[in-house]
Amino acid sequence: MSRVIVVGGGLSGLAAAYWVAEAGLEVSLLEATPRLGGHNQTVRLEGQALELGDEHFDEDPSTLLGLCRHLGLEPQPRPHRPQVVRWRGRDWVLPPGLNPATGHGLHRLSTLPFSRRTRWRLATERWVPPAARKDEPLDAFFCRRLGPEVWEVLAPYVEAMLGGPAGEASTPEACPALPQLELRGGLVAGSRGLRAQGQWHLAGGMGGLVQALATRLQQKARLLAGQEALAVTHRAGRWAVHLPGGRLEAEAVVVALPAPQAARVFRPSSPQLTTWLNQFPYQHSAKAFLLYRPAQPMEGPVDYYWAKAEGYAGTALRQTPLDSGLVLARVQFAGEVARTADTELSRLAQQDLSRFLQAPTHPLAAWVFRQPFSRPQFAPGHTRRVAALEQALVHAPGLFLTGGYLAGPGLARQIAHCHQVTRRLLNFMALSEPQSD
Ligand SMILES: Cc1cc2nc3c(=O)[nH]c(=O)nc-3n(C[C@H](O)[C@H](O)[C@H](O)COP(=O)(O)OP(=O)(O)OC[C@H]3O[C@@H](n4cnc5c(N)ncnc54)[C@H](O)[C@@H]3O)c2cc1C
Repeated sequence: MSRVIVVGGGLSGLAAAYWVAEAGLEVSLLEATPRLGGHNQTVRLEGQALELGDEHFDEDPSTLLGLCRHLGLEPQPRPHRPQVVRWRGRDWVLPPGLNPATGHGLHRLSTLPFSRRTRWRLATERWVPPAARKDEPLDAFFCRRLGPEVWEVLAPYVEAMLGGPAGEASTPEACPALPQLELRGGLVAGSRGLRAQGQWHLAGGMGGLVQALATRLQQKARLLAGQEALAVTHRAGRWAVHLPGGRLEAEAVVVALPAPQAARVFRPSSPQLTTWLNQFPYQHSAKAFLLYRPAQPMEGPVDYYWAKAEGYAGTALRQTPLDSGLVLARVQFAGEVARTADTELSRLAQQDLSRFLQAPTHPLAAWVFRQPFSRPQFAPGHTRRVAALEQALVHAPGLFLTGGYLAGPGLARQIAHCHQVTRRLLNFMALSEPQSD
């Protein structure tokens, strides 16, 4: 019998189980599907690594970089790809190093061909007073500080990063760095003083991290793939995870599931936890890959983001030329449309691509990957929801929750959160250890 059970075999669960095992505790990891890695999956086409989930990581990467290096992996700085927003039929090439979520590169926005009025707004942004409202939505925040024209250009890029509408995201929750810059002399001036921030990736694909963690865990832990946790209950000081064919018991449980799935496993035992977990909003996402022969050879990879008013069904298009001369186009979908049937998504992606290229395209192959409830949204009230959940956990010693909805956006933050939770768990286990005389 293991002392710790980790529920969920995505990167959060794998990392948690790894650190518990490294500390010398017996641990079992339960994954509902036959495959480990959750949303993270790398597939290969003509030697190219195609990511179905995470592609890179940036903010606060030290824990994740440390984990990769400990596993013998060497993350690389991600090569620059041009990021282009199509708005009002025009292509706006975003300045390199721009990350509106952290404020990086915002001062370079003045290099874009904005109207005189907008250029004046950018030049005088430091005198815009801070928000009166704490939980200001992200679209209102950017419009207020930089003007509506800048926001129209940034919105498609920011919304692709968030995986959902900026109007429903709370600025301090989704992008905590921005209100701080606002208080320190404005976004434009503040961004000048920020240290350049790298983006990291694994050259062979993020699937390499899943593989490396799984290989280590095979030696040090009990990996139970294809085992769905139906419920997590607590009785007489022990935790039980109920499975279709029985149950496992342990002193502590880490639930490393997205909030809606975590809510489900607590339904039989804790209506309170279920209620709170169900209040974390999520968006659906999907990607359609189309392989086609271009009319002219493509120069290099480019990422396009489409403004809503352009009338595309998707939100973004990534084009990658392959050695064979073919091009792989990836159309991204977010929200309700991402739930439609594969054939419909494939048709919409083809329609978007033809419209974008202004010529009919006849894909040689098409693949659709849907990821329902995959993107947590950091909506107003997020801090209150997290605090309520933490309060509920005070009455459940030995139960730990981790996942993107608690950590904030991005894999790096998620892995750092996972590390903190594992340390708390190890402290708990040390304190609950029977004391020898
Ligand atoms: C399409 C997409 C792209 C992203 N791109 C980036 C990016 O480029 N950079 C970045 O920083 N972040 C990105 N993210 C955000 C974030 O890093 C990922 O969402 C993250 O990998 C999620 O990991 P996780 O382990 O918390 O959850 P998941 O990957 O969802 O893993 C949860 C696992 O639990 C399993 N499970 C569910 N229910 C049960 C149950 N009852 N019993 C047992 N197992 C169960 C599931 O099968 C799954 O394997 C992206 C997210 C998505 C969806």
